[in-house]
Amino acid sequence: MTYRPNGVIRLVQYGLKSEVLECSDIWFCMGCNTCSTACPMAIDIAAVMSALREIAIEESVRIAEPGIYNFHQEVLNSIYRYGRTHKLEIMMRYKLRQRDLFSDMDMGLRMLAKRKLDLRPSKIINKTQIRKLFSAKVQKAKGNNDAPS
Ligand code: SF4
Repeated sequence: MTYRPNGVIRLVQYGLKSEVLECSDIWFCMGCNTCSTACPMAIDIAAVMSALREIAIEESVRIAEPGIYNFHQEVLNSIYRYGRTHKLEIMMRYKLRQRDLFSDMDMGLRMLAKRKLDLRPSKIINKTQIRKLFSAKVQKAKGNNDAPS
């Protein structure tokens, strides 16, 4: 991390938009809420990090951690397709995006052997609400803030 959570908040306070949107720190955040819980100013820093990632994507800035971004996209794609995450497919698609098919293969095989990965996705019955959320997000990204009903 270059700035750490307090440094990221400071960049936001100073209005240093390109510095904050192009830094690695916003992509390293796992949303564990440790800093949010400890913040003496009660700032929900994890939520700020998440919002900064979304703004970075929407504004097509240079993504500092493309590997993490690719993983992020595959998780969202899985939720869009099934309403849930299908971990095996996420990992395979992520590896394809990264053009790195064989690293971690041994760990993947061990996870399969221990039945930690489902071969088939489990799907929610009604994906309409999930699709509406994604559709509203796409509309917003296009500058149309009227979410579809
Ligand atoms: S939410 Fe957790 S991972 Fe994210 S910046 Fe705070 S402490 Fe780090």
